[in-house]
Amino acid sequence: MHNTELTELASLDRAHLIHPVVNYRSHEQRGATILVSGHGVYLNDAQGNELLDAFSGLWCVNVGYGQESVVRAATEQMRQLPYATSYFHFASEPAIRLAARLVELAPASLRHVYFTLGGSDAVDAAIRFITYYFNSTGRPQKKHFISLERGYHGSSSQGSGLTAIAAFHQNFDLPLPHQHKIPSPYPYRNEAGQDPQAIIGASVAALRAKVAALGADNVAAFFCEPVQGSGGVIVPPKGWLKAMREACRELDILFVVDEVITGFGRTGPLFACEAEDVQPDLMTIAKGLTAGYAPMGAVLMSDAVYCAIADGAPGMPVGHGHTYSAHPVSAAVALEVLRLYEEGGLLANGVAQTPHFEAGLREMLSHPLVGEARNRGLLGALELVADKGAKTRFDPALKLSERIAAAAYRNRVIFRAFGDNILGFAPALCYTASEFELLFARLKKTLDEVL
Ligand code: PLP
Repeated sequence: MHNTELTELASLDRAHLIHPVVNYRSHEQRGATILVSGHGVYLNDAQGNELLDAFSGLWCVNVGYGQESVVRAATEQMRQLPYATSYFHFASEPAIRLAARLVELAPASLRHVYFTLGGSDAVDAAIRFITYYFNSTGRPQKKHFISLERGYHGSSSQGSGLTAIAAFHQNFDLPLPHQHKIPSPYPYRNEAGQDPQAIIGASVAALRAKVAALGADNVAAFFCEPVQGSGGVIVPPKGWLKAMREACRELDILFVVDEVITGFGRTGPLFACEAEDVQPDLMTIAKGLTAGYAPMGAVLMSDAVYCAIADGAPGMPVGHGHTYSAHPVSAAVALEVLRLYEEGGLLANGVAQTPHFEAGLREMLSHPLVGEARNRGLLGALELVADKGAKTRFDPALKLSERIAAAAYRNRVIFRAFGDNILGFAPALCYTASEFELLFARLKKTLDEVL
């Protein structure tokens, strides 16, 4: 991009574009990183740098950039029918086919699909449907929601109260009085040690205790991510998800799995639930559903939840929906993206490439800054510590994460530097062994530079 054009864009950005989840004043100082194109697992910025993307945009571009068949699917749908409402009794072919395909692919308990515009809005819809469900089944007092510390469930009005990240609550009057948290299953920092059974037992006990304190008759649902993403890629032990599902059944509360990040091959199988044969009452999805090529999310629900809502107010419409629910272009994109995962071999490639990712992360453990390397499938993190034995965190005043992000950019690699000095990685499912080699070479150089 020409220098004058770049200067103009930078100043228009500062003046007018509000960026999600930044400090607005810091952004005015720093300015935007303007991206102009992408191909495969590379992005190009406006200065002409080619960057290796190890975060799939925002954990969403699971198929990589420049997939022509997805572009064709979107273009053809736009040409044929760019918009069809799903309000009232209208529908489009891609929306119907996508709902049916998702039901085929998702855990067997999930039979009905409500399409949203993204993940936050899927969580918001799930909360509204759960409220409707309990009101219409004669248990209107079941209004309390439980989620995990370090959880992220987006930033809708109610969903951000289930999220457990301070910036999403500060000055927003959240969490709401009926939103509660239990500790995160965080093996590396679990006081009782890293024994998987102890961690699972502690989570189940915490859920039981919270439900007992609130009264089982007052609790509606437990929301969780199979692997916590934005909270720092916290990987619970295998068996944790199943144990939480069973506990919810015993406690008579709904179990909602938020697969917005973990869905669509991110942890290996199409959905993380599959690995433990978990059958949720509701599931939220987004991101990898369209791989970022168009906005879309969904809530999938069981027959029991659907039927209670369907029969909840005879003769009345269920008053929830958006103009762009089940958008035909997004649905056509999602159908093609699903084809790439399955017939296109991307799911299989993700699984085949995971050992390269895992080995690269493990090798980083020998670096003086790295206290832990963890992953499930192509979702991973390195946790940096000042003292490996004591697992001491770095003083936030050192602004290590910011320094690492800046050095990474200079080394032309993009990943996510979270607070608490956790580096998050979510490479696309089309990564090759040599791209992983390049990623870890650039990462090592970056960490050496900030040491
Ligand atoms: N749920 C989870 C687990 C997420 O990670 C996210 C986004 O990162 C959301 C919900 C919100 O999705 P969106 O950003 O599409 O609104």
